[in-house]
Amino acid sequence: MNVHTIDLELMGMAGVVAAYFIPSSAGHLIVDCGPSSTLPKLKAGIAALGYDIADVKHLLITHIHLDHAGGAGTMAREFGLQVYVHKNGANHLMRPERLLESATRIYGAMMDTLWGAFEAVPEQQLAVLEGHETLSLSGFEVQAVYTPGHAIHHLAYAFGRDVFSGDVGGVRLADSDHVVAPTPPPDIDFAAWRESIVKLRALEPKRIYPTHFGAHDNVEQHFANLEQSIDQLEQLAKEILSSGGGADEIAKANWSTCQSPNWQFRPRAEIRTLHPVPDGSQWVG
Ligand SMILES: [Zn+2]
Repeated sequence: MNVHTIDLELMGMAGVVAAYFIPSSAGHLIVDCGPSSTLPKLKAGIAALGYDIADVKHLLITHIHLDHAGGAGTMAREFGLQVYVHKNGANHLMRPERLLESATRIYGAMMDTLWGAFEAVPEQQLAVLEGHETLSLSGFEVQAVYTPGHAIHHLAYAFGRDVFSGDVGGVRLADSDHVVAPTPPPDIDFAAWRESIVKLRALEPKRIYPTHFGAHDNVEQHFANLEQSIDQLEQLAKEILSSGGGADEIAKANWSTCQSPNWQFRPRAEIRTLHPVPDGSQWVG
């Protein structure tokens, strides 16, 4: 199996949001297509590999946050492909109005620039999963694994020991070993998250592919660092709540954990200053 990491360069930022492209003569696969604002990048990335995006047959969505799934409806309409999603997120893909309302409250006038259109996925093109299925797709056996913690509608996908971990497997940029648990509102659940890591470990991955960003081989160290991040964030949240703080303070503290000295990435200032949502959530939601 060949996995190609396509850099969607969200808002011109390299190495932050990936789509994974897996070619097959029986119809290509994509894990997380990103928002529709970056579809031209996705098309160009696939074309540069010598393939045509119109030949993508299966789009596997880890979760419905805009940076992962925003372009799914547009791709479904343009290419007639099948979209795979957890049952807790299916309704939002078919009827995105509520999701868009709340996202617009957060992103305001920047909605379009950041994410582009979020079109509905027609019901007949949606494969609704529970997260314990083994699918046979274009010659690949793909295990869908329910992995809540980051979101209640989160799936990981295992192609043998290659595991696409969405956001539940943490955020790890460039060649850094620094792993952060992305914790945007609303359904962070640290206990469920730890259980999901147990499920991911049980797959014995030899390589892990977080959407943010790229393939990583030293998986056990990756998980250990992720668990450390979860412990740290949970401790911070407890301390803040017990001293009378709330969600905003927790969000700021979350962001401070991203400030690793060996992590060069900094979001562009215009994104960070948009609104009071935690800086880290602007791009990792
Ligand atoms: Zn994300």
